Amino acid sequence: RAALDRMEETKENGAFVAVTADRALDRAREIEQQLAAGKCAGPLAGVPMALKDNICTKGVSTTCASKILTGFVPPYDATLVERLGEQGAVCLGKVNMDEFAMGSTTETSYYGPTRNPWDRERVPGGSSGGAAAAVAEGDCWYAVGSDTGGSIRQPAAYCGVTGMKPTYGAVSRYGLIAYASSLDQMGPLARDAADCAAVLDAVMGKDPRDGTSLDVPAGGLLAGLTGDVRGMKIGLPADCFGDGLDPAVRQGVLRAAQTLKARGAELVEFDFPVMQYVIPTYYIIAAAEASSNLSRFDGVKYGWRAQDYEDLTDLYCRTRTQGFGAEVKRRILLGSFVLSAGYYDAYYKKALQVKGLIKKAFDDAFTRCDVMLTPVAPTTAPKLGESLSDPLQMYLSDIYTVSVNLAGLPGLSMPCGFDEKGLPIGCQLIGPPLGEDKVLNAAHAFQL
Ligand code: GLN
Repeated sequence: RAALDRMEETKENGAFVAVTADRALDRAREIEQQLAAGKCAGPLAGVPMALKDNICTKGVSTTCASKILTGFVPPYDATLVERLGEQGAVCLGKVNMDEFAMGSTTETSYYGPTRNPWDRERVPGGSSGGAAAAVAEGDCWYAVGSDTGGSIRQPAAYCGVTGMKPTYGAVSRYGLIAYASSLDQMGPLARDAADCAAVLDAVMGKDPRDGTSLDVPAGGLLAGLTGDVRGMKIGLPADCFGDGLDPAVRQGVLRAAQTLKARGAELVEFDFPVMQYVIPTYYIIAAAEASSNLSRFDGVKYGWRAQDYEDLTDLYCRTRTQGFGAEVKRRILLGSFVLSAGYYDAYYKKALQVKGLIKKAFDDAFTRCDVMLTPVAPTTAPKLGESLSDPLQMYLSDIYTVSVNLAGLPGLSMPCGFDEKGLPIGCQLIGPPLGEDKVLNAAHAFQL
């Protein structure tokens, strides 16, 4: 009830797109009884949380913040939702996002933007901006977002919370509406690394309904947090601290490195020249997969359908023309272009080759260090409206996060101070495949 009251107080923020108050209260009572009977005792039992609106929830509208999915109520829960349910989670509702998770500001949402809790004239980041804002406002203790190229980590940075994208395959994608299937992962946004670990413990692990899910042992991350980083090698890739990085952000991240050093970690610097290729590679692959994934939204099977049409082709055409927003259409066009005959080899195939090189560069880096430390975004949160006019500039701001998805690695964003405007700065810890424990432990050491 306190969480629902808090949501009411903060609602001009636009973090939630659907509030399921009655369900939440019923569920809380049910958990209370289970707890009293000693049945349900994990760390998530009875804890209020929120889910990004691209995660399927049985009986609760799931729209990807798009007009084309208005009215879509999934007949099933995502595996992640099921697993959190088994742990006694209480879902308060669905949180706002960029339409189909395409964007970095939560401004492309059909419902309108979410505002940054630290400065309401600024964006919360994206695409999981509603999730980050809801946690930062104190509406819920954690939220689950999705991250294809930074959508958990960047809003966490802009809103001053901790967010983690796990290793690709660590969390089942069953029931996550796909943006770019080879890059998408769900993960928590929460107060700190320990809370993220508790959520990951509940949701990681093999799922027969997702062929790309990994057979990793679930659990143990929270219990494994020692906060001891003595002897841990923390890599600082020089190419992540060069031109285009706001001086206040650089300072904040390097200060975090010094704090970890003071706690016993060793700092190792090296060059990381593949950084220059990560943006074009990501935007080719992500757009290509998006154009294919989004072809299913045709007005026949899910959600919304255009009112007037002449025949089947016209129904498809009108539904997609009116149902998708400008950014989504831009991605579908880009993706169809790079996949088309004559351009496939030059763009898509080339991007897949460069993806391999990026993966290799990370493999090499992890022979020199245990985890890497970088900025999350080049700046702190921009003003509302600033990024919409210049999509290319917005794409470029994803430089520090997209490489992590291309290489399938775990990445965590945590707050490391404020800039001169009083806005939170985030730093990113990146681990080797299935190095969630190392990443979380380094973050925990910093947050102790
Ligand atoms: N901003 C990036 C994009 O628009 C990342 C989005 C995401 O991770 N879902 O594609």
